[in-house]
Formats: sequence, structure tokens, C-alpha cells
Amino acid sequence: MHTVELLVIGSGPAGVSAAAAYADAGGPPPVLLVSADDDLPYMRPPLSKGALTSGPPVEPTPVDPALPDDVELRSGTRVSALDLENRTVTAAGEQIGFRRLIVATGATPVPFPDADDDAEIHVLRTLDCGRRLTAAAKRSSSAVVIGSGFIGCEAAASLASRGLEVTLVTPEEGPQRTRLGERVATQIASWLTDLGVELRTGVSVTHVDAPRTVHLDDGTTLAPDLILAAVGARPAAADLAEGGAPGAVLQTYEGRLVADEHLQVAPGVWVAGDSARGLNVAAGRPLDVEHWGDALAMGELAGRNAAATDAAGAETGDGWGVWDDVPGFFSEIGAHTLKYAAWGDGHEAIDVVERAGGFTVWYADAADVVVGVLTYNADDDYERGRDLIAHGATLTEARSGARAPAPAPEGEVPEG
Ligand SMILES: Cc1cc2nc3c(=O)[nH]c(=O)nc-3n(C[C@H](O)[C@H](O)[C@H](O)COP(=O)(O)OP(=O)(O)OC[C@H]3O[C@@H](n4cnc5c(N)ncnc54)[C@H](O)[C@@H]3O)c2cc1C
Repeated sequence: MHTVELLVIGSGPAGVSAAAAYADAGGPPPVLLVSADDDLPYMRPPLSKGALTSGPPVEPTPVDPALPDDVELRSGTRVSALDLENRTVTAAGEQIGFRRLIVATGATPVPFPDADDDAEIHVLRTLDCGRRLTAAAKRSSSAVVIGSGFIGCEAAASLASRGLEVTLVTPEEGPQRTRLGERVATQIASWLTDLGVELRTGVSVTHVDAPRTVHLDDGTTLAPDLILAAVGARPAAADLAEGGAPGAVLQTYEGRLVADEHLQVAPGVWVAGDSARGLNVAAGRPLDVEHWGDALAMGELAGRNAAATDAAGAETGDGWGVWDDVPGFFSEIGAHTLKYAAWGDGHEAIDVVERAGGFTVWYADAADVVVGVLTYNADDDYERGRDLIAHGATLTEARSGARAPAPAPEGEVPEG
């Protein structure tokens, strides 16, 4: 049996940055990265944006950091079982042994549930999904997008930009209204309608007949050339967690692997990216995060911690880092960019600050503490907001233009 010092499962941003950081930190070789994806590592965010507006062909955008040359990559290889007790995985029928393991299996799109088996419904997660979607878009003059999350809104805008007649159907009263509030929903709605997207809000799809007939609960029916379901993604780690022997089963929460502040889920095993539920020390609680930049950062942390672990699974002198980033991402809807940073597990109050050509939305919890910020053409508030969230500032402080205290110089202990 082939045994490696580090095995990484998944070639998304979390897996690639984990392998790169491990190598960079001098972790012992050999390192093997096994991925179910057939393609070399690529960026997902362009798939609902530029690549969908202009393709085909959809060209893969390589992930930065690149995978180091001495990391062996096995693409098109799914890990079907994890045996934690014997420290092995089964991949394409082969047993692979590992001393350290990083799980970075991300998420898979949820298929639209109420549809004929042979209904033609696209989902968007992989480069291959993107190739199929853009090829279909090229042949189509109309599209229905189901769902008003960021991927649904971005894809609707991109399809409309390439000349398709697009209808976006959502049970929400406005795009992203439930998650981000009325001001953001109204803004996104106006960007989409400016691009010619027809919004059917407060309406649910009851069934999709094969090949492409969409029934809505207001009694109407749509018959587009193309259907895209953007109704969410499901973490892809639970199968691995449950496959172990009794006593060697990893703890999961809603399909994610539960990790400590070092992103460690068991001795010598870490998780990063969309499949992780890690303990964020700045938030003081476990968080679920599904953002590109955070997957990169979590992967880097997991990789560095794995490199600072000896063969017995103990921390070496280099020490383990902790996860304390405020999660955040950008969304491009047509020509407009929204920037959002938040713990991401809800809010009780919303406060909108308008400015010429843009706005800032502050989100606070029941104790008036800022838990999120969303900006449009207000980058100063986005940067300031991230720091304020990390420091637990109040909404009043955020509104007054306050800045978070500068970090104490190294070696100096901050007062209080
Ligand atoms: C269309 C689209 C647009 C997006 N736009 C943005 C954006 O603008 N900004 C943003 O912050 N985020 C965006 N995201 C989200 C972002 O892409 C994800 O948060 C990020 O990819 C998560 O990284 P990950 O490494 O955890 O998982 P993934 O990128 O999902 O990678 C998981 C990897 O694991 C592999 N894998 C899974 N199971 C197994 C197994 N059993 N065996 C072997 N390999 C396996 C998969 O093949 C894949 O290689 C977007 C996502 C999509 C789909």
C-alpha cells in the first residue's frame, strides 16, 4: 500500500492552498492530492460571471497559489471511503495510507427536487457544468433561472447580458431579501431588470416537466430553451465522515466536518473550505462559510498546521495557527460589485447608510454588535467594517465612522 505524509482530498481553493502551504512550510513529502474533478485546478467564481457572459469556450482560470511541482495530483479520482482507525482511504479501488489528512471536498449543487427525471435542468458548480451551460446558452434565446442567491442573480445577469430573455423565479419577495434585507433586494432587482431580466418574486416552481416546462404556483407555465437551478449546495464531506469504524467516525453538523480552532477534526486530520464547520476564535463560535477567499485562507491554515505536526500527531515547535478571519466575498451582478463581510449566521437589526452612487448596510445582533457589512461603491466602509466586526464594535460606533483599534506592536500587551 502506498502511504503518503500528507493526503489532501479536493482540488478546489481549500485543497490547493492547503497543499501549497504545507510544502511552503517545509512539511515532509510525499504529498498527494486526490480530486474527483477531471480538470486541473480552476477558479469557480468566473463560471457565473465573465465565462457565462462571453463563452463558449469556457477556459479554466488557474487557481492562485499554483500547486507545487512536487505535489502529486490525481484528478478524476473520487475517495469513496475513509478508515480513520487504519489511516487509509479508498480511491478508485486503491487503498492509500496517510500520516496527515486534509479534507477539502467542498460542496455539490442541490438538484431541483420537483422535476421529471429526464427534465433538462442545469446546475452550476464545476467547469464541466459551466461548459454545458454556456454551450446550451449559445443555442438558446430564453432561460429560466430558479433561485435568487448570488449564483442565481449573477447567472441571470450574465445570461441576459449575452442576449437571452431571462426570467428569474424566486419564492423570496426580492433577490436576497431574506439574507440581506430590503435595500439590497431592491438594488439587485433594479440591476437585473435594467439588464432585461423578468423577475417573478414571491413565486415558487411547483414542478418541471421534461424536457423544459416550468410550472409556477401562481398557475402560470414557462417554456424556456434553458433552465438553470441555483437552489443551493450541499457540503460533500458527510459520506467520508460516516464511513469509518465505530469510534473512528468524524463529527458532522449539517454535512460539514466539525473542527476546532486549528481546523483539526481528529488527531492529524484537518478540514478546510465549504465542507468545514470550524471554530472561529474571533467570532467565538463555529461558522459555516462558503466563499472562495475563505476557502483559500482556511486551506492555508490547515496546510501550515499539518506541516507543524509530527508523525505522532502532536504540535511541533512551530505551533499551530488558529482561524480568526472575518469571512467575506465579492459578488458581481452585471457591471456592479457588492462586497460583503459577515459571520454569516444571521442578524437582528439592519442599518442603511446612503452615499452618492453607493451605500453601506450594517448588520447587528440583538446586543447591537456589528455582525456584518455590505457595501456598494463604499470600499472604505468594507475595509473598516471587517475590522469592526472582528473587534465586536457596536452599530453606533460603526455609524459614527469609528475605526477598530490598531493592533498592538509585537511583544506589547494591549490594555483592557
Ligand atoms: C458558479 C460559482 C460562483 C461562485 N462565485 C463566488 C464568488 O464570486 N465569490 C466567492 O467568495 N465565492 C464564490 N463561489 C463559492 C466558491 O467557489 C466556493 O466557496 C469555493 O469553491 C469552496 O472551495 P472548496 O475548496 O471548499 O471546495 P470546492 O471548490 O467545491 O472544491 C471541492 C473539491 O473536492 C473534490 N471532491 C469532492 N468530494 C470528493 C471525494 N469524495 N473524493 C475526491 N475529491 C472530491 C471536488 O471534485 C473539488 O475538486 C462561487 C461558486 C460557484 C459554483
